[in-house]
Amino acid sequence: MSHNPSKILELVEPIAAGVVAEHAIRVDREGRFPEEAVSALGAAGLLGLVSAREVGGLGEGHRAAALVVEKHGPEAVRRDVAAGRHLSTLAFSEAGSRSQFWAPTSTATKNGSSVRLDAKKSWVTSAGHAAAYVWSSRPVAAAGASTIWLVPAKTQGVRLDGAFDGLGLRGNDSRPVAAEAALVPESARLGADGAGLAVMLEIVLPIFNVMNAACSIGLMETATQRTAAHAASSRFEHDGAALADLPTIRAYVARMRLKTDLARALLLDTLDALETARGDAVLRVLECKAAAGELATEVLDIGMRVTGGAAFRRDLGVERQFRDARAATVMAPTTDALYDFIGKAVCGMPVF
Ligand SMILES: Cc1cc2nc3c(=O)[nH]c(=O)nc-3n(C[C@H](O)[C@H](O)[C@H](O)COP(=O)(O)OP(=O)(O)OC[C@H]3O[C@@H](n4cnc5c(N)ncnc54)[C@H](O)[C@@H]3O)c2cc1C
Repeated sequence: MSHNPSKILELVEPIAAGVVAEHAIRVDREGRFPEEAVSALGAAGLLGLVSAREVGGLGEGHRAAALVVEKHGPEAVRRDVAAGRHLSTLAFSEAGSRSQFWAPTSTATKNGSSVRLDAKKSWVTSAGHAAAYVWSSRPVAAAGASTIWLVPAKTQGVRLDGAFDGLGLRGNDSRPVAAEAALVPESARLGADGAGLAVMLEIVLPIFNVMNAACSIGLMETATQRTAAHAASSRFEHDGAALADLPTIRAYVARMRLKTDLARALLLDTLDALETARGDAVLRVLECKAAAGELATEVLDIGMRVTGGAAFRRDLGVERQFRDARAATVMAPTTDALYDFIGKAVCGMPVF
């Protein structure tokens, strides 16, 4: 696995500053999927960022992320992911088990040489645009709480079951998906029957928490920079003072900077812990999402206060980040579930 962040940033930055920024306001306003941005990321090879080099990916990211496709995915799908032709998404949350994804209530039953899936998935991001869903169910026959499948979106019996009109992350096409007597081959299983929890915790959780934390930090960083720029450039005409000349405003901006840097430092330490298989790696993985998610809501709350009336205008962008930042706290594992896991780890109790 290679680690060359500056090369990756050279690929990402023009896309972020170009097509992503260009469409951000419209995607948010219309609540439509950011197709142009996803296509640009695919064309630059970035959807294959963590795909192995053998299948044409960039081979970047941390070990667990690579494992999710390396260990369990069919080679053709892995090649399509690496080439930016395949978007898959997590279908873990359910109407029954809600945010407690480790206890799915949906079923998988043997049906001749196939497996029949029945489910009410409550939230599936990119649902109408994904080629396949990484899908949890109760096991077919084995003991254990869950089994994971790769379910092609076009599988007969799988249907989109609603629309998305969210407070934030409005372009993410996050919809309920239902399965009624949907048949998949046994080869669609990712990992062993009944081994879903291990796949969720050892493979999905580290990459999900790390990426989720990085997303929260990105929102904080942009908001901090925009707020600081607004404070420095907005003036009171009667005395010529800038907002940033007010000590209270500077202190708020300082708190935004501090909280953003705290979250980033913890994320970087989490990556170090994962890369070197440190003893506290699991604790750090739990902490980084909880901390970044909560700090992002605090930073954006301050950003809304400091930018004053301008915060209510869409063009400044801080109100969009304020709405987007809320999602991390309720995306499973939710902050409160993470606090429970972290508390158990710190008190020397079994975490899961
Ligand atoms: C924008 C967005 C995109 C999403 N995309 C996906 C996706 O692609 N795939 C997917 O599978 N899911 C996705 N989700 C769903 C998400 O992961 C959660 O499952 C969902 O937000 C939980 O909502 P709920 O109302 O069912 O939560 P509930 O489970 O009803 O939780 C309500 C409250 O109870 C608390 N709570 C629940 N269990 C515990 C516990 N054990 N300890 C402490 N507190 C607890 C929660 O923290 C929360 O505050 C998405 C959610 C959002 C908002």
